[in-house]
Amino acid sequence: MARLILDGRILPLREEESVLECLLRHDVEVNYGCQAGVCQSCMLQSEGDLPEEAQKGLKETLRVQNYFLACQCQPQNDLVIKIPAKENFQAEVVSLERLTPEVVRLRLSVPEGFQYHPGQFLNLFHADQTRSYSLASLPNEPFLELHIRRVPGGLFSRWIFQRLTEGNRVEIGPAQGECFYTEGLPEQPILMIGTGTGLAPLYGILRDALTHGHEGDIRLYHGSSTPEGLYLQEELERLSSEHSNFSYVPCLSRGPAIEGVRSGRAVEIALAEHPDLKGWRVFLCGNPDMVKSAQRGCFLSGTSVRDIYTDPFLPAA
Ligand SMILES: Cc1cc2nc3c(=O)[nH]c(=O)nc-3n(C[C@H](O)[C@H](O)[C@H](O)COP(=O)(O)OP(=O)(O)OC[C@H]3O[C@@H](n4cnc5c(N)ncnc54)[C@H](O)[C@@H]3O)c2cc1C
Repeated sequence: MARLILDGRILPLREEESVLECLLRHDVEVNYGCQAGVCQSCMLQSEGDLPEEAQKGLKETLRVQNYFLACQCQPQNDLVIKIPAKENFQAEVVSLERLTPEVVRLRLSVPEGFQYHPGQFLNLFHADQTRSYSLASLPNEPFLELHIRRVPGGLFSRWIFQRLTEGNRVEIGPAQGECFYTEGLPEQPILMIGTGTGLAPLYGILRDALTHGHEGDIRLYHGSSTPEGLYLQEELERLSSEHSNFSYVPCLSRGPAIEGVRSGRAVEIALAEHPDLKGWRVFLCGNPDMVKSAQRGCFLSGTSVRDIYTDPFLPAA
């Protein structure tokens, strides 16, 4: 049976056990979140060969340094592992604003040394738990902006909506993820589809692209099941009137038709209006089922896999 070697400690692995499960069983303190290989909270470093799936989704720069995801790694041979030094930051709550009764805009101070691309996510720590939230702000703004939806019975939602106030200090992890705008190909058309607070990363990515002078068309479809869920509508309409290459399409999946809002699911409307997506760059954020079906639809409509960037908001395990 394979074993983990951590700081000279030998930890035997059970059959089909992941590195994360083994560490938790041995009471080793380790960060983790979604346990599905998405949030990357459980990233560790190894000194040996790793199974391919343990590095799936990691940037090349991390792969070559033997970083891997503990939740996705089931070693067949002994593996020497290291827990990277914790690089967390303290931030202060600058403001909390209800954008709708169900969505709060949380602004945090930018800790020294915190670097990010709009659209990446950070992990927020509270009560020995971790949740991921996407960055809607731009690095030149004097705050980090998060949009947080109220989840009934949710631990973090309740804390943020009911307890957190201006001036409180919170612990956050470094920015992670690969769902962000990159320069180069300024003429490439961009399609964005988001549901609910999936708008947060898209709002950051959109403004980043416009700030970099992106010239190709940018089409943003934002879906909600309620009219209030279509938050930041005025701001997005303003951006679309200022930038002729940007169009904003709010979509309502339920209820009576509203002027200026398309009726139906954002993903279905966006795909029907773009039957040929060859050469497009695509960003998909929010509900995991929507992201999955949009990813498939975009691929079938011609988008190259490497041009599809996703941020499924998976609940913490
Ligand atoms: C990469 C990433 C980025 C994310 N970015 C954002 C963001 O920008 N804004 C944002 O609001 N959220 C975002 N999320 C989701 C966020 O991390 C939390 O999962 C969410 O806020 C719920 O946490 P909670 O502690 O309130 O609820 P929990 O205590 O975790 O859950 C309470 C109950 O609700 C269920 N539940 C949790 N989430 C959902 C859901 N979405 N739909 C239905 N049931 C659910 C749980 O299974 C559980 O039964 C992101 C997730 C990931 C992985």
